[in-house]
Amino acid sequence: MLREWRSELNRLLLLIAGASLLGLIVGKPTLFILFAALFYLSRMMFQLYRLNRWLENLPDASQDEPPEASGIWGSIFDGIYRLQRRERQAVSHLKSILDKAQESSAALEMAVVMINHRGNLEWWNKAAETLLGFRTGQDKHQGVTNLLREPRFFEYFESRKYAEPLRIPSPIHKNLILEFQITLFGEGERLMLVRDVSQMHKLESMRKDFVGNVSHELRTPITVINGYLETLLDHKDTVAPRWVKPLEQMHQQSQRMENIVRDLLTLSRLETKSLPKEQDRIDLNALLREIKSEAEQAFAQKSHQFELKSEPELYLKGSINELYSALSNLVFNAAKYTPNGGEITLASRQHSAGLDVEVIDNGVGIAEQHIPRLTERFYRVDESRSTDTGGTGLGLAIVKHVLARHGGSLEIYSKPEKGSRFVCHFPKERLLPAPVQAVKSA
Ligand code: ADP
Repeated sequence: MLREWRSELNRLLLLIAGASLLGLIVGKPTLFILFAALFYLSRMMFQLYRLNRWLENLPDASQDEPPEASGIWGSIFDGIYRLQRRERQAVSHLKSILDKAQESSAALEMAVVMINHRGNLEWWNKAAETLLGFRTGQDKHQGVTNLLREPRFFEYFESRKYAEPLRIPSPIHKNLILEFQITLFGEGERLMLVRDVSQMHKLESMRKDFVGNVSHELRTPITVINGYLETLLDHKDTVAPRWVKPLEQMHQQSQRMENIVRDLLTLSRLETKSLPKEQDRIDLNALLREIKSEAEQAFAQKSHQFELKSEPELYLKGSINELYSALSNLVFNAAKYTPNGGEITLASRQHSAGLDVEVIDNGVGIAEQHIPRLTERFYRVDESRSTDTGGTGLGLAIVKHVLARHGGSLEIYSKPEKGSRFVCHFPKERLLPAPVQAVKSA
């Protein structure tokens, strides 16, 4: 580049020198220099004009090549040409990536839908047409909630909480079950992925039915066996002494089986039946008091110190049986896994996001690696300890399900040898105002 500038400068100097010489010969040097400058300027203007015309015609492929020029102008034209070629290559590279992305998402069995910040459809693939019934041409820029009118979808879409997917029947094929997963991106835009999970849904309901049926069928035989064993043990004196120990073990195991079947039936009911529309008004403090006194009685021999630290007047909307089952599971666990004389606290507290019920103990605690898996069915930290305490490994799975059905969640904090804290969080929509007290007239 420096070379071109030098030769351009030389050219200008040569022109001025030639004009001055000629001007001196003729006796009008200023006039000649002025002519030379005008000539130089018009040459520059001409090159600028060519550059401008070329740039204006650029989208025209036939005008691709820059105008011929030498010196500094040639260098400028070439530089712009190189830039323009590089940009074209980048654009075509991006376009081919975009084409490939669109082609591959068009070939997907999963529906892919792009929704803008106003909730209107921007783009969708072929599967969205077959699964959701979107029509090319007609539905572009339509509001997604106008096209998918299921109330559960509306609620899910507007909630902007997409950690869990939503399962609902397809709007056009009622026998298809679709799973919706939305991701927020950019400035309020949403990417919605929808897949057909009918087969999986069918298998899951077969599994749930199977577990429910098996547990139901096992209940009666186990109750009968358990009943006879209890009767035999009530009359130990009529039983040969060498049979007493085996009978006691059989009784212990059959009781365990009874507990497992009971918990499996509870879980299967929680999975297959939705929360009834008519829900109870639950006096949380009364419920916690009842659970506390039951645990105190059941674990009297362990001499725990139970404490209830609850804000007054807390009322919840939900199923009292389910919440009783969930909270008593947590309190009984605390008692089971806390050595004699330990402290167990039941606390509840209202805050801006809802209500927390906590069960805190200073018992054996749980190592960190087990915590994420505790709510899995049959997951036990220590098989022998859990069996000794009569555990089924299903208690926390029940707690998790019950809370989820009430829009809540379970958080677990624990340290080995220090104790555990189980926090049940209920959203504020579950809270009910305290009943108005009747004022006694004097
Ligand atoms: P289980 O019927 O065996 O108690 P759960 O599902 O109720 O089953 O609990 C799963 C496991 O979590 C238990 O086996 C136990 O090891 C652990 N666990 C639950 N609660 C506590 C607690 N309060 N302190 C220590 N460990 C606990």
